[in-house]
Amino acid sequence: MITFENVSKSWGDNHVLRSLNFEVTAGEKVSIIGPSGSGKTTILRVLMTLETPDDGLVTIEGDTLWDARDGKKPKETKQMRAVRSKVGMVFQSFNLFPHMTAFENLIEAPIRVLGMSKDEAGERARGLLEQVGLSDHADHKPPKLSGGQQQRVAIARAMAMRPSILLFDEPTSALDPELIGDVLAVIRDLANDTDMTMLMVTHEMRFAEEISDRVVMFDSGAAVETGPPEQVLKNPTHERTQRFLHAVL
Ligand code: ATP
Repeated sequence: MITFENVSKSWGDNHVLRSLNFEVTAGEKVSIIGPSGSGKTTILRVLMTLETPDDGLVTIEGDTLWDARDGKKPKETKQMRAVRSKVGMVFQSFNLFPHMTAFENLIEAPIRVLGMSKDEAGERARGLLEQVGLSDHADHKPPKLSGGQQQRVAIARAMAMRPSILLFDEPTSALDPELIGDVLAVIRDLANDTDMTMLMVTHEMRFAEEISDRVVMFDSGAAVETGPPEQVLKNPTHERTQRFLHAVL
């Protein structure tokens, strides 16, 4: 379970999150849609502790990740890092280590952060590379891989840390159209086969409809409409969602 309670975040006069209240239950697959600048990426970055909220409370599985309810900037603590270790993220632009092979990208953090043995991390890495269809590319470095292959390595790398929550920030938006299908197939398999909580910011409406238990429409830093995909995407009740879908579909 993830909860955002009255969470706010601003950069100067730009109020990116406005007293946001938002919950995701354990195992739920949720897609976040909405116009550019509405704060979608910011909520993922807050969950990764890459951004600090100005106000409000964020919890993961009942434990506090951020407590800024007094309006003071919360400090990073050991307990926060332990909570955050349950979360993995797949970025728009892959963010792989360019000088390491696909295999090395997958074993680095499990060994260094989780203290896994090289053998255990290696075995898991090989299994994950197979799962994303890249067993033959284990020894390739990112510059030798296509964007779609890099993104599949990035998904495997996030999985290598055994997260219970996986975040995707527009995972296909940097890809050529012909490479998108393979990446979406990997995400679809994860959504179908795992009990991980998945939170995905996406502009792929058809994909969101297919894999999500729930779609949330963001506008100006607040969740304006939420519901099953067939309702939010096919029969939206909020005027802002109707206008947004009309513009993008
Ligand atoms: P998009 O679909 O374009 O990625 P988004 O809904 O994901 O948009 P965010 O990336 O969360 O939006 O950004 C919300 C707003 O916050 C934008 O106006 C952005 O310019 C601003 N913003 C994000 N990060 C910073 C930062 N580090 N410093 C200043 N402003 C920022």
